Amino acid sequence: MGEYECCSCNDKFHLDEPPYDGVPMCDECRSDTPFEDAILKMPSWGEAILEIEGLVNAEVSDLMKKNDTAMASKLNKSLNVMKRGY
Ligand SMILES: [Zn+2]
Repeated sequence: MGEYECCSCNDKFHLDEPPYDGVPMCDECRSDTPFEDAILKMPSWGEAILEIEGLVNAEVSDLMKKNDTAMASKLNKSLNVMKRGY
C-alpha cells in the first residue's frame, strides 16, 4: 500500500495494493479517459474472447477464400478449445 502519482493527471493518490495492471492511474482518470482506458485497462475475459474471436473469424474467412480449409478448420477448433478453457 502507499502513495502513487497518477500517470495521467500527476495527482497523488492512495492505493491499498499496487495497481492491478502495473499502471499508476487514479480512479478519476481511469473512469473518464476512454482512450487511455482502452490502452491501459485489462479487458474482461468476455471482452478478450470477443476481440480474439473477431480476429480469428476474419482470418478464417480469408483462408476460406484461399481454399485453405484445413487451416481454417484448425483455427476454428483452436478458438473453441480456448473458449472451453482447457
Ligand atoms: Zn489522475
